[in-house]
Amino acid sequence: MKAKFTVVFFFALFFSLSLRSQNYKIYDKISLESFNPSLKKKHIKHSFDAITLWLDSEPFFGKRTIAQNKISDSVSNFIITDEGDIDELLSGIKHRISLKKTEKSWMVTDVIKEWRCKGDTSFSSTLCDTDLSLLFVGDIMQHKPQITAAFRSDSLDYDFLDNFKYITPILSEADLSFGNLELTFGGKPYQGYPRFSSPDILADNLREVGFDVLFTANNHSCDRGEKGISNTINVLDSTGLLHTGTFLSKKDERPLIIRKKGIKLGVLNYTYGTNGLPIPENQVVNLIDTVSIEKGINKVKQQNCDQIIVCLHWGWEYKRSPNSEQVRLANFCFEKGADIVIGSHPHVIQKMELKKTKGKKRFVAYSLGNFISNQRDRYRDGGATALIKLKRESGNVKLDTVNYLLSWTWKEENVEKINYKILPGSLYGKMEDSLSTADRKKFKKFLNDSKKLLDKENIGVPEGHYFNAE
Ligand SMILES: [Zn+2]
Repeated sequence: MKAKFTVVFFFALFFSLSLRSQNYKIYDKISLESFNPSLKKKHIKHSFDAITLWLDSEPFFGKRTIAQNKISDSVSNFIITDEGDIDELLSGIKHRISLKKTEKSWMVTDVIKEWRCKGDTSFSSTLCDTDLSLLFVGDIMQHKPQITAAFRSDSLDYDFLDNFKYITPILSEADLSFGNLELTFGGKPYQGYPRFSSPDILADNLREVGFDVLFTANNHSCDRGEKGISNTINVLDSTGLLHTGTFLSKKDERPLIIRKKGIKLGVLNYTYGTNGLPIPENQVVNLIDTVSIEKGINKVKQQNCDQIIVCLHWGWEYKRSPNSEQVRLANFCFEKGADIVIGSHPHVIQKMELKKTKGKKRFVAYSLGNFISNQRDRYRDGGATALIKLKRESGNVKLDTVNYLLSWTWKEENVEKINYKILPGSLYGKMEDSLSTADRKKFKKFLNDSKKLLDKENIGVPEGHYFNAE
C-alpha cells in the first residue's frame, strides 16, 4: 500500500528553529534506544520530542526534509530525509519513524532506515555492499634523539615526515589508520623519556602521512600536566585528526563515533594508569576499570554502531605474551559487546587472535609493539600493523579478515645527521645499497623473531601483503 505523505513545511521550520535553541538536558533523559526497533517500550512525552531527539542524535547531512504522514489521531509517521554528499558511499539517508499515541504519551513503535548509494536514484532498505579497511599501528613515540634528529637547521624547525616516508603508502591507502600517540604536545622544552613532549608539527606530519585517528590515553598522558593534555587535544583538533582517550573536561567525555563509507564505528580508549602522575582536576584520562569500560561500550551500543573498537593501554613492558589480566579484560570487552580490541604499551609485539564465536568474528591484538621509537634492543625496534577488513553484505557489517604486517625502525647513523625511518617488512632485501650490514642484520632479526612468534601464536591472523608491494 502506498502511503500518502503530506510534506509540512511548518515542521521543517519549527525543527530547524528548535535545533538552534534546543535544551539538551530534556532529551538526555530519553535514551537513544527509543529508536532501536527492538526496544519499543520506551515512552516519550510527545511526538515532537521524538523527532527533535532524533535531530539531536544524528548528524545533519546536506538538505534535510521532514514529512509527516498522519494516519489517525493516534498513529503518525515522520519521514526525515537527508540528501547531499554524505560520505564516499551515500547520497541519502531516510528515516521513517512510526509513533503511536498511548493514554499518556507518544511511543516510538518502529524506525525504518533506508539508504541511497551514490549513483542510485532510489532509496533501498539494504545498504549498498562495501568494505572498509582499518589499519592499526603500535606506539608512536618520540624519544629525545628522535626529536633532535627531526630538527632542520635550514628552517630552524622540526620535520618528522622522513620518519614515515616508506610507510606512507599503506597508511594513506587504508580507509582509516589508527595509532597510539604515546607522547604529549606539551610545548617546550621538547623532551623524551620520562616526560614526553614533542613539537606540534608532528601532528601535522602524522595527518599528512595518512593517520586518521590517534589514541591519547596512556601512561604518558599526564607527562606535562593540565597544559599537556589540553594542548595535545587542541593540536590534534587543529589538524583534523580524530582522537579519543583524554578529554578537556568531564562534559566532553564521550566515545568517538566515526562514520565512513556508511559504516559506523564506536571507538573507546583506556589506560592502566598515568605513571603515578595525578590526572588534573576537571580533565579526563580514561582509566581501565570494568565498570567504566562497560559504561563506555553501552554508550556506543546506544548509537547503533556497526563495530565497537576498544583500545587498551595495558600489559607488562617487554613481555612477548599477554598476561592473564590482558586476556581477562579482552574477554570482558567481547562479552559486553566489543568487536575489536587493540592493545598497546608492552613495546614488543604480542599475539593476535581472530575468534569466531556464535557465528561472529572478533579480533584482539594484545600488543602491536613500537611503530616508531628510539628503542633499539631486540624485539623493541619495530612493530606490527593489524590490517582489518570489514565487509557489509546484505546490509550487515561483519569483520571479514585480519592480516598482520611488520615494520622496522631504521636508525640511519652512517650519515652526517641521524635519521629515523620506518621500513615496511616488504622492503627487506630491496635496500641493500642504503642499509649497513649491521642494519640489514637487525632488520632481518626483527622480521624473523616477529614472524616466528606471530605465525606460531596467532589464531586466524596470517601475514598479509603491503598495498603497492611489488
Ligand atoms: Zn605505555
